[in-house]
Amino acid sequence: MMLRIEHLGIAVRNLQQANRLFEALLGTASYKEESVEREKVTTSFFKVGGSKIELVEASDSESPIAKFIEKKGEGIHHVAFEVEDIRTAMDRLKEQGFELLSDEPKSGADNKLICFLHPKSTNGVLVEICQEIR
Ligand code: ZN
Repeated sequence: MMLRIEHLGIAVRNLQQANRLFEALLGTASYKEESVEREKVTTSFFKVGGSKIELVEASDSESPIAKFIEKKGEGIHHVAFEVEDIRTAMDRLKEQGFELLSDEPKSGADNKLICFLHPKSTNGVLVEICQEIR
């Protein structure tokens, strides 16, 4: 079972500009910026109640985020659901017929283990499942 929407990921062209905009929009400053080398992204996190907004900027033209923005423009990139145990969740989703984008959990930003589901198996929505690293 998914515990909650942990965050919404938003693809942005310019992280510093988007930071200022979301700071004004949400009335709170980003609490963390973090680069994820392996994914070729730089991220920035805002708390919104019990959930978060993750701004994601490509750090390289080969980044999946750069390709996403090229194709679709800026905007909502993924929905991330928190799970108690990511391996259990991955097994359950695989059994349900969802296509996972990795066989093993990967380490993501903000102290998380993550796995993405292919949008073609989720009505066009890129879904991330994540588990806090304890
Ligand atoms: Zn995310």
